[in-house]
Amino acid sequence: MNEDGEKFDVIVLGGGAAGLSAALWCDDLKLSCLLLEKESELGGQLLRVYNPIENHLGTAARDGRELRDIFLRQTDNRRFIKRLTTEVIAVNVEKITAETSDGARFAARAMIVATGVRRRSLGIEGEDYFRGRGIIESGKKDAAAVKNKTVLVVGGGDAALENALILADEAKKVYIAHRRAEFRGREEFSDKIAGHPKIEPLTETVVERISGDQKVEKVELKNRRTNEALTLNADAVLIRIGVAPNTEFLHGKLALDDNGYIKINGSGETSQTKIYAAGDVVNPLAPTVSTAVGSGAAAVKAIAAALRLSAHK
Ligand SMILES: Cc1cc2nc3c(=O)[nH]c(=O)nc-3n(C[C@H](O)[C@H](O)[C@H](O)COP(=O)(O)OP(=O)(O)OC[C@H]3O[C@@H](n4cnc5c(N)ncnc54)[C@H](O)[C@@H]3O)c2cc1C
Repeated sequence: MNEDGEKFDVIVLGGGAAGLSAALWCDDLKLSCLLLEKESELGGQLLRVYNPIENHLGTAARDGRELRDIFLRQTDNRRFIKRLTTEVIAVNVEKITAETSDGARFAARAMIVATGVRRRSLGIEGEDYFRGRGIIESGKKDAAAVKNKTVLVVGGGDAALENALILADEAKKVYIAHRRAEFRGREEFSDKIAGHPKIEPLTETVVERISGDQKVEKVELKNRRTNEALTLNADAVLIRIGVAPNTEFLHGKLALDDNGYIKINGSGETSQTKIYAAGDVVNPLAPTVSTAVGSGAAAVKAIAAALRLSAHK
């Protein structure tokens, strides 16, 4: 509830590109808006993009953080309330309320879920402990740190292959462990990898354990076909095995696809009336800044029309 006990017009869950666009449009269309973000700053995935973003029409940025800063300059003086470090842990989709990790509950006339995606993890021993201690975040960001070292990249899609190529410019040796027999990434990348003197693919191979003293030293792997075990001496590991939508708290509340992405209709509305969704959390096929920003805007336009209609009933 608002401090005066009134409902907000719209609650936006998530302060990435989609959520910020939705909040901006709420102000434009004179809808009161509360934006809830679980992290301590806005921007979502943009904060972890270290490559230039040159394909979002209207703005080019040296990296995601710069684009995020441009977004914040445009939204900072807009009228919406934002609460950072506020994770939504449950929603009531009939009453349109959101319950947060600090025990608060907020009500609105409509809701937009823009909780995005997170990187998948392997779920193996050592993965949490060695994050930042040899488990690196990005080829672009960490290339200098692996100079003349041995790196294992885990994954077989575009992100894994592209990062392996970037890391190979500096590293002594780059292994790529992929659970399938063939890489799924673009030919452009797999062709370069095939003849690369520093890159060695390990297909049909899964990672079982990461170990070391204070930092990554060894990685235990297993060939899925032969069951053969292999221990690599590695200084760094980069995990790129895809992403998962942040929708755990919505299971049983909204229709989701088999991978947990939210199903929406052409207006961005979910299986529940007045609950909308936007951005990567609805978009497994074409997640981009432009689609996130566009779908956030479209959801608010649809909500404005729906609320106007219900006001006239
Ligand atoms: C390495 C990399 C490079 C990329 N390069 C490009 C590029 O060149 N061009 C391009 O167009 N796109 C690029 N993208 C994709 C682009 O960054 C995303 O499509 C876009 O930022 C998605 O925005 P979003 O708001 O939908 O989701 P996110 O950015 O994922 O934002 C979701 C937000 O919701 C918050 N949240 C999650 N759960 C909760 C909860 N329960 N309660 C409250 N808050 C919650 C999260 O903390 C996050 O801030 C790249 C992505 C990556 C990772």
